[in-house]
Formats: sequence, C-alpha cells, structure tokens
Amino acid sequence: MHKNGLQVAIDGPASAGKSTVSKLVANKFNYIYCDTGAMYRAITLKVLNNQIALDDIEKISELVLDTNITFEPSENGQKVFLDGKEVTERIRQSDVTNSASAVAAISSVRKQLTESQELLAANGGIVMDGRDIGSTVLPDAEVKIFLIASVTERAERRYKENLKKGINTPLDVLKQEIEARDYKDSHRQISPLVKAEDAIEIDTTSLGIEEVVNKISKEIEKQL
Ligand code: C5P
Repeated sequence: MHKNGLQVAIDGPASAGKSTVSKLVANKFNYIYCDTGAMYRAITLKVLNNQIALDDIEKISELVLDTNITFEPSENGQKVFLDGKEVTERIRQSDVTNSASAVAAISSVRKQLTESQELLAANGGIVMDGRDIGSTVLPDAEVKIFLIASVTERAERRYKENLKKGINTPLDVLKQEIEARDYKDSHRQISPLVKAEDAIEIDTTSLGIEEVVNKISKEIEKQL
C-alpha cells in the first residue's frame, strides 16, 4: 500500500458511469478523486479557444506545455480550472466532447498529462478514472476496474443527463457520438482504451449506481 492508501484505477468507454461511481467511491474511502477525462477536455477547450486545428500537432504540443489544469473539491464533485479560469460546465459541451479524442491521441499531450496524473497518485489514497489508468498511468494500482455498459444504455444515460441541463440532442445522435468516440479511443496508437489484464470487468448495463459502488468497495476492502 502507498502512504495515503490504495491506488484505484477505473477505466472504461464513454458514459459507462465512471465519474459518478468514482466520486462516490472516493468519498466513501476519503480518497482523492481525479477525473483524467476532464484534463483531456480542458486541453481540448484551450485548443478550440485558440482556434488551433485539431491536426496541428506542433502547436498543440507547445500549448500543452504552457497549460495549467487544477481541480477544487465542490459539493457536486469538483470544479475544474484551466489556467485559473473555471471551466467545469464548459468542458462538458458537445464541441469539446467530440474533439477530445483527437487531442487525446497526440503523444505529447498524453505524456504531459500522464506525468501529472502519476505525480498526483504517487502517495495513493486516490480513485482515478479514465481510459488508460490501469494499463498505462498506474500499472501497479492495487485495484483496477473496467466498467462497461451497452451503447444503448450509455446513450440513454447521457440523454437523461443532458435533459437535466436543458440539452436536447436526439438519442440516435448521442449513440453515434459515443460509438465514434469509443472507436477513436480504442484504435489510437498510444495508450488506447483497453482492459488491463488484471482489471475486474463490471457490466453496469442493468446495475444501479449503488450496486456498482458496492462491488468496487468490496474489491477495495479486500486489499486493505
Ligand atoms: O472520460 P471523458 O469522456 O470525460 O473523456 C474525454 C475524452 O478524453 C475521451 O473520449 C478520451 O479521448 C480522452 N481520455 C483519454 N484518456 C483518459 C481519459 C480521457 O484519452 N485517461
């Protein structure tokens, strides 16, 4: 075990419920929660704000070296700051969501973000969610979970979440967007979305949030 507790890696495809579950698990064990997707989203927002083309690897590589992403705990999870400015809501909008996979495929971006994630997790006591946490960022994590759910279920969850925020993207469009993102994330050259050999797969299609949290908690308790 690390100084402050275990490293818990939670990976899986888009909208499988990773962040909801990870936040709850982190709270339960009094661990830090790190949403690595938010880091890729924040860089993506900066690329869009600076009107840099998604294939301009040179400019994006320069930009990432000069970017500061920070988190602050809040009532509903955490706030995300990009170069000191709060971007918590902004990075969830569809322009960022649909461009993030392209930015996340760039090696310099992954290198930079992976380094900060490793640093953050060095003392343990952390739940980190993403795509490559168990396979690449924290290969020695004591608990590795791979969350999956059917595309239809994931699109429906996203649809309901969106409605609460007043966004009304049709279900079939959401389904296509999720499939496109999964494809890009699974087929990129560096650190693709993959289940680590020693990860425990949980299919959340017909499970409630609490059931998933309980399953993960049991895995954590086994290691404590
Ligand atoms: O998890 P979330 O949907 O917020 O992630 C946004 C995007 O960031 C993903 O589609 C993926 O391209 C990228 N990502 C990644 N590696 C991670 C976390 C996210 O490539 N560890």
